[in-house]
This record gives sequence, structure tokens and C-alpha cells, in this order.
Amino acid sequence: MDVVDIAVIGGGIAGASLARAVADGRRVLLLERESQPGTHASGRSAALFSETYGNAVVRALSTGSRDFLRAPPEDFAGFALTRPRGAMHVGRPGQEETIRGLAETLAALVPSVREIGAADAVARVPVLQPQRVGGAVFEPEALDLDTNGMLQGSLRGLRRRGGEVRTGAEVTALAPLPGGGWRIETTAGAVEAGIVVNAAGAWADATAALAGVAPVGLVPKRRTAFLFDVPGHAVDGWPMVVDLDETFYIKPDAGKLLGSPADETPSPPCDAQPEEIDVAVAVDRIERATTLQIRRLSHRWAGLRSFVADKTPVLGFDPAAPGFFWCAGQGGYGFQTAPAMARLGAALLRGGPVPEDLARLGVTAAALSPARFQAGAPIATETHP
Ligand SMILES: Cc1cc2nc3c(=O)[nH]c(=O)nc-3n(C[C@H](O)[C@H](O)[C@H](O)COP(=O)(O)OP(=O)(O)OC[C@H]3O[C@@H](n4cnc5c(N)ncnc54)[C@H](O)[C@@H]3O)c2cc1C
Repeated sequence: MDVVDIAVIGGGIAGASLARAVADGRRVLLLERESQPGTHASGRSAALFSETYGNAVVRALSTGSRDFLRAPPEDFAGFALTRPRGAMHVGRPGQEETIRGLAETLAALVPSVREIGAADAVARVPVLQPQRVGGAVFEPEALDLDTNGMLQGSLRGLRRRGGEVRTGAEVTALAPLPGGGWRIETTAGAVEAGIVVNAAGAWADATAALAGVAPVGLVPKRRTAFLFDVPGHAVDGWPMVVDLDETFYIKPDAGKLLGSPADETPSPPCDAQPEEIDVAVAVDRIERATTLQIRRLSHRWAGLRSFVADKTPVLGFDPAAPGFFWCAGQGGYGFQTAPAMARLGAALLRGGPVPEDLARLGVTAAALSPARFQAGAPIATETHP
């Protein structure tokens, strides 16, 4: 029987980064069902960092992650985990007022965001159909993320601190121990842990159910993506293009373009697969908005972005289950918030306060706490910019 201080369930970016952050001076075991960490959402993202994305709490967590990602500690990665990319929200003729409004809203969050004219937008991404462009909101500071570098740096850092990563270890039962802590049954043997961290991604509510803990109402939503070649164009310097109504996006990815219909189809937790219809819809939208003819897809996939009702992640001890800690609901921003989520999670696991820099950005433990889902708690609403 293994006995550890903290067992983290889930070897995606959420579990791996929090496990590393809390491993100093603690015995930490990371349990992952699959044979490889990062098999699910964390192996399927679009790898963008944008400080205008998400609600106020999410944006603060992203800003609180930026310095780490730009200049990670030497033992994490010996290189920057970001690269300049830029993002452009492109509107059609007739949408000028919406473009102006969005530019003002986003510039209030990140001052470098600005409205640009149609000709400027087409000059930046020459495959855009000029007659379909009425203008755009340009976000120069959006960044590409090295998501594999983030995951591997977290796992390496955990091992360097004496922690263990156990793959092929599906948690099948969780029972509180009489003196405190948890007994965890896994397909790779039983473990006892003082604290269980639930970082099971789309399966976080299912994992809570194993422990008899009330769900937080997580809704996994499928998002489809694919890669295609763009013959005759050097796409690497193009910004990401998101259409103003968010019905598709394209983003350079290692010499190809990544396309997505920006779908959000509710799904049970599963190994998400792309549906033909979602791929076809995206191809059609991209072909209408550009001069591109997409002949062949080199790769297609889907992943689950899991949200709770207010779209703020869930981080903290469950109020009704001692020693049960949530790290879930990272939605479409799990990578760009991971460094701050890990630091905050480690502080809360140690019983400490919110780290000062995050508190200055307006992050409170209450905003992320699972206590907000308890009966009688005020009903939270989504707060998008
Ligand atoms: C198409 C797409 C585009 C995205 N684009 C971006 C982006 O541009 N920027 C960004 O920041 N984010 C993006 N995201 C979101 C980001 O990928 C997620 O927020 C993040 O990966 C969630 O990480 P996680 O560790 O919570 O989940 P996961 O990576 O799914 O990890 C959870 C792990 O828990 C394991 N597990 C579950 N149950 C058990 C159990 N009982 N026992 C053991 N292990 C278990 C699973 O096998 C899984 O590996 C995107 C997501 C998708 C799908």
C-alpha cells in the first residue's frame, strides 16, 4: 500500500502543473488513467494565450500566468513557452459598429488592442475575401503557447521534487478514512492519501461521485479542430483569425492552418471524436470567408472544454468533504491560466492566502471556491467582457 500526502487524479495540464507546484516537501502522486499524460483536452488545444479571453477571474489568472510562460524557471523549461502570434476578430461589412464596440471593450482590458480597417486586415492575412471584410479588432499581444513544453515541464518538475507520475492508473473508488484522508482504489493498486486533488478534466464530477461528493455541474463541450495545407502561402507570420460572431477560427500551426467551427456541443465525458458535420461546416465557413479551397485535411480531432455555470474554474477544498480538493472547470483557457491556477492551488492546499500578485489582480479564493455550488449559495452568472 502506497501512502502519500497528496494524490492528484488527472494527468492533464491542470493536475500536472498543480502537482509540481505543491510537491516541495510533500509526497505527491499523480494518477492518470491513460498510458500517456495529456491524452485528452490537454493534447488537443489550439494553444493560444489571450488576456482578453474569458471573464474577469479568468483574465486575472491569465495575466498572473504571463510572466511564468514568457520566462519559465530554468528547471521547468530552458526556453520561452510563448511566441508572438496576434489575433484578429474580423467583421463583415455592416458590422462596423460591433467591431468598434468590441475594440473599445477589449482595449479597456489590454490597451494595445485596436480597431483596424478592412485593407489592413486583408494585408495581414491575404487569403481573406476583401468584399467580406468590414474591419477588424486586432490584438497584437496574443501569443502562441508551447503546450507540450508546459506539460512536460510540469511532469519533469514534479519528478525532480520527488513526486511520482503513475499512468495506466484509473481511480475506481474513493473512500474517506476514519482518521482523515482517503483510500483510493486504482487499476494499478490501492493508495492512501491525506488529500485527494480532483483534476480529472471532463470527468471531475464523475470522480467526485466516486467519493460521494456533490457535483459542481460541470458541462463538457466538444470542440472540433483540423489541420490543412495552404499551398503558396507562408502562413507562419499571420495572426489567428476569429470571425466576429465566433462561428469559426483559423490559426497558423507549424506551416499549416488549424481550423475550427468554434463548436460547443455538450457531451458526456468521453474520448471526444470529430463529427463529419462539424468539420464540413467549418470548411464551408472558412472557404466562404477566404479565397482558400480546402482539398485535404492532414489531421482532425476533437476535445472537451469543460465549464461550470459561471465559466470560472473551480479550485479549493470541498466544503462538505474534508481533504477533497477541486481543480476543474478550466473550459477553453486551461493552458493560459495553468501557472497561476497551480500557484494558487498550491497556496490553498497549504492553507495559505492567495499569492499577493494574484490578489492584486483581483483574484479571491471565494470566486473559485466549490462552496459557490452549495445549496443556499448566491446564484452565479456568467460575466463575459
Ligand atoms: C479544441 C480545443 C482548443 C482549445 N484551445 C485552448 C487554447 O487556445 N488555450 C487554452 O488555454 N486552452 C485551450 N483549450 C482548453 C484546454 O485544452 C483545457 O482547458 C485543458 O487542457 C484542461 O486540462 P485538464 O487537465 O483539466 O483536463 P485533461 O487534459 O482532460 O486531463 C484530465 C485527465 O484526467 C484523467 N482522468 C479522468 N478520470 C480519471 C480517473 N478516474 N482516474 C485517473 N485519471 C482520470 C483523464 O484521462 C485526463 O488525462 C482548448 C481545448 C480544446 C478541446
